[in-house]
Amino acid sequence: MPLPKLKNLRAVIFDRDGTLNASGPDSNGGYILDPAQLAYLPGVESVLKDLHDRGILLFVFTQQNCVTKGLIDEAGIDALHDMMQTQISPAAYKGFFFNTQACAGPDWSKPGAGMLNAILASHPELNATNCLVVGDAVRDAESAAAAGLPFAFVASDQKDKTAEARKTSLPFFDNLATLFDALDAPVPYAAYEIDADSREMLLEAFPPRHADVIAHHITHKYDATEADMPPMPNEVRVTGHHDSGAIQVLVVEVDGHRHQAARADETPRWYHITLSIDRAQGVAPKNSNDLLDAIVAEHGVAGLDNLPEPIEISVTPRFMLDTA
Ligand SMILES: [Mg+2]
Repeated sequence: MPLPKLKNLRAVIFDRDGTLNASGPDSNGGYILDPAQLAYLPGVESVLKDLHDRGILLFVFTQQNCVTKGLIDEAGIDALHDMMQTQISPAAYKGFFFNTQACAGPDWSKPGAGMLNAILASHPELNATNCLVVGDAVRDAESAAAAGLPFAFVASDQKDKTAEARKTSLPFFDNLATLFDALDAPVPYAAYEIDADSREMLLEAFPPRHADVIAHHITHKYDATEADMPPMPNEVRVTGHHDSGAIQVLVVEVDGHRHQAARADETPRWYHITLSIDRAQGVAPKNSNDLLDAIVAEHGVAGLDNLPEPIEISVTPRFMLDTA
């Protein structure tokens, strides 16, 4: 499951011990039993403050077996969280969820999804594209998977947990700062840039209908490396022209191929040119593919090709960065 870009993030749900703060003293069995024992790991406070300042909701989901063991009561946990609530900025966190709360259901304990599902139920706008779970233990990742949410590991202050995390194929970061820097980085993609003469010809043949005129490239592979760069194609043809009322799209064939190269985690996308777009209607260039998918669902692939004659254009393969 791809990690959301920082600009799309609405909420981050953190594991607590080993992710935000150092584990408690060995004399406590590693538990934090007193607010005075809670210390954020290096750099964590400034990351939390930055996320909070961006309007991103912060949640904590934490398994506190120390309550069931009788080392602390729920009021003691609440006191700890009350202190955390005021450290970053007033009411920095949207909520703290821990597995011994009175409302706890059968899957409330990690690796169950109960705590995460409770957060999703309380904020229906959150989903896998705008919400991220962060933790230091495999059971945190299992909870995220059970709730259908993307997950990232950060290195734990407990070496055995870090070693277990590294055995998985899930994204792993040395700390929270590098994680959120990565989510903020532009996404590289391999594309065919439309040559100037062809662009001019296309804009004449298909006058832009929406305010933001793009007609710039055909994406070959999103989230690409240099190794994904395609060779110079022999024949690129525009075969269709469609408009959803908010996004105007040209369908393209590259050397007879209709699909972009897909990432491992996605279904293939149609080769196309986003000609113009009305961003005021809440659409983005990536929605071109949704329009083409809808046409294929209704009319089959033949429905994409509505031009009487294909139009040949010239392009140049380029490596680009999506900073939008
Ligand atoms: Mg932890």
